[in-house]
Amino acid sequence: MTAPLRSEPATVEVRLGARRYDVVIGRGIVASLGGRLATLRAGAKAFVVTDENVARCVLPAIDASLDRAGLKADRVVVPPGEASKSFAIFERVCEAIVASRIERGDLVIALGGGVVGDLAGFAAAVVRRGLDYVQVPTTLLAQVDSSVGGKTAIDSSHGKNLIGAFHQPILVLADTALLDTLPEREFRAGYAEVVKYALLGDAAFFAWLEANWREIFAGGPARDHAIAVSCRAKAAIVERDERETGDRALLNLGHTFGHALEAACHYSDRLLHGEAIAIGMALAFEFSATRQGLVAKADAARAIRHLRAVGLPTRIKDVAGPPLPLDRLLELIAQDKKIRRGKLTFILARGIGSAFIETGVDAAEVRAFLSEKLAGR
Ligand code: NAD
Repeated sequence: MTAPLRSEPATVEVRLGARRYDVVIGRGIVASLGGRLATLRAGAKAFVVTDENVARCVLPAIDASLDRAGLKADRVVVPPGEASKSFAIFERVCEAIVASRIERGDLVIALGGGVVGDLAGFAAAVVRRGLDYVQVPTTLLAQVDSSVGGKTAIDSSHGKNLIGAFHQPILVLADTALLDTLPEREFRAGYAEVVKYALLGDAAFFAWLEANWREIFAGGPARDHAIAVSCRAKAAIVERDERETGDRALLNLGHTFGHALEAACHYSDRLLHGEAIAIGMALAFEFSATRQGLVAKADAARAIRHLRAVGLPTRIKDVAGPPLPLDRLLELIAQDKKIRRGKLTFILARGIGSAFIETGVDAAEVRAFLSEKLAGR
């Protein structure tokens, strides 16, 4: 698989019948937002939800584009970070949308990373019993993952993403140039989700990533190509299983271990989501190789080698700070929603590009595996 030389925008269609939409990917395309919205919803007003960092880096370009198209837009700017997926900030966002007299037929614009996308998307799902919204993702994670597929949510004191709705956007506009201002650590964490699509279903894409990751990090056509391939992979899975009753769970590769690690670190900067997923994917491949001999050891080693080459963590001991206790990790894994009738569900692999859902994993096997890992074996 080679990256196309052209750099005009790529369009990925998410085919969901009446809820179909396009994901448009390209460098510099944010300037076209106003024109596209005016075409989609002539005469509509818009309401922008963003965070303070994105407001500084991106909002002027959005304002200019909406202005050129004659679109009036109010906005609310929330603090950056996971803490904004709270009831208090959600209330603020909903009240601001209502106060700006946004009606059915108008549009909410989620401008930011996964936090803003989840928060604004959920507000759009419930204000006036449902408003249309547009995702303008500004992190790599949001461009390849959270902006596509319609999962929206805020956090509960009992856990992350427990209060939410499925609500598909009507357009996703992923301007890959916006990633130029993203801190490198955030970009790298988002790259873990790109690797996820390759590991779970596309061996040729994985080989292409091994050869081209430096260009993806540098920007240019390879970056756009990687994002388009990732969005196509996500769209295909969402089309098969919009509400995660089956196949969509494949997207959770690395998440059972990863979520436990994130929760053990209290969703802090100690471990970003993508970093936790990188460790989780490495563990899922090693577990597949050692537990059942499912995947060749060489394939597991190759998957881990690539994650390490780009600077992602792959071992529990890579997490900075005090050691993470085994019992706490097992308790968090058991609390995870992927547990049925006492058996744990894991996304395991038969090879690179060939993941599957295993619903019958015994907790004792996970304990033995993790205690080996924590002992550094
Ligand atoms: P984020 O939204 O917190 O963004 C990361 C940081 O980058 C923030 O400080 C933000 O202000 C900053 N930032 C964003 N864009 C920037 C830009 N262009 N330039 C400079 N700084 C920028 O984090 P994230 O990793 O994008 O998203 C994580 C969230 O996504 C989590 O809450 C997770 O639950 C959610 N998520 C949702 C889905 C889904 O399907 N809905 C999937 C995966 C993750």
